[in-house]
Amino acid sequence: MSALLKNDLAKPYQTVARGKGVWLWDTEGRDYIDGSSGAMTANIGHGVEEIADAMAAQAREVAFAFTAQFTNAPAEELARRLTALAPGDLDHVFFVNSGSEASEHAMRLALQVWRERGRPGKTRFISRQRSYHGMTMGALSMSGHDGRRGDFGDYLHAFPEVPPAYAFRSDWGDLPEEEQGAVAVAEWETAILAAGGADKVAAVIAEPIVGAAGGALVPPPGYFTALREICDRHDVLLIADEVITGMGRTGSWFASGFEGIVPDILNTAKGLSAGYTPMGAVILRAPLVETIRQGSGLAPYGHTFSGNPLSAAICLAVLDYMETHDVLGNVAARAAEMEAGLKALQQRYAHVADVRGRGLLWGFEFVMDRQGKTPPPAEFNATGTFVDLCWEEGLVVYPAGIKPLNNACLISPPLVITADELTELLTRMDRALAKMETRLLALGQG
Ligand code: PMP
Repeated sequence: MSALLKNDLAKPYQTVARGKGVWLWDTEGRDYIDGSSGAMTANIGHGVEEIADAMAAQAREVAFAFTAQFTNAPAEELARRLTALAPGDLDHVFFVNSGSEASEHAMRLALQVWRERGRPGKTRFISRQRSYHGMTMGALSMSGHDGRRGDFGDYLHAFPEVPPAYAFRSDWGDLPEEEQGAVAVAEWETAILAAGGADKVAAVIAEPIVGAAGGALVPPPGYFTALREICDRHDVLLIADEVITGMGRTGSWFASGFEGIVPDILNTAKGLSAGYTPMGAVILRAPLVETIRQGSGLAPYGHTFSGNPLSAAICLAVLDYMETHDVLGNVAARAAEMEAGLKALQQRYAHVADVRGRGLLWGFEFVMDRQGKTPPPAEFNATGTFVDLCWEEGLVVYPAGIKPLNNACLISPPLVITADELTELLTRMDRALAKMETRLLALGQG
């Protein structure tokens, strides 16, 4: 019996042995295409020699020096490069070790900023239903993911939630595209006012494209421009959670920049290290940093491992790799093929609906028939069933279905996937969809 506590204690997990590029092998020699980059993390693929070399070189110099006692060259350089890539005046970085910690720090920093500005009553955060910002208590309080909130509700802050920008299941999805953004965003303003408006609300948090909690929900054009305006009107900070969408996943370094807006705080993690080390970053705009600088300073923030030299050197090597190999160019080329491939599968399988996404972050959901939007019954667990069927075909996909629908799935392979590998991914998915169709048809007749 395993001494390792895993999410599903009953599941006989396969043991991973090796990885190279988009491929993983288990200890029995079975191959898998990593169609989800793990959890949207292994952006440059597995087993990259350059990263192993950079890791070894830095470990030989110095792996760890405590952040309260020293700064270090890799962390300084990484902060410089990240702020150069981030939009606008997002020009200071605080390093953490995960996306959840990034959410916690965004909360704490927002609270501190308002305190320093003489407005300590601004303590409320607003997020969206179908959102996930992390597992720690503050981050979970801002997450509209019932499954992950579990039975901890009593311990979480009762923050308000607004509907996600989910065109397929909204009452604005049929409006002309140019009108959708303003309508979809309106509930944010209502929620801010209901929560006490400028006097009470510290910040809102949203992913540019919802990943794990919905399966690539892409907002309509103008949505984030309008949200930025609402936040400015009500003196509310905008936190962009780019833990998934950051570092090239959607085709540019950060998705926040698509509409030319600049969030006040931008979080990223996952692809920042591409899985080679735990790492996250909170990037702040200049005025926030100025407030903190003129106030009581940043203490007592930080974790033991924050911005350690080894992790920072690894992230620098990942950035180097992405630039040297024009990984964003590959995302652009593969994105078009992915969209065409998924839409072709949607044509073949009537139960596949609403193929959506950008870059190499794609989702879709299962419905009972092409004409309707009725999801399969919750007890069928369409998401889990499909993830298992893909697994049988040697394809790893990410379960993005959450209650009450539990019918969505994410396809998000490493950003370095080749055209041939993408064809193989879609072929394996095709076989899994054929089996899924048999099950859904049986369900429909049952
Ligand atoms: N924010 C988003 C948008 C995420 O998708 C996740 C993880 N899936 C997190 C935060 C939490 O990140 P971590 O698992 O690294 O704590």
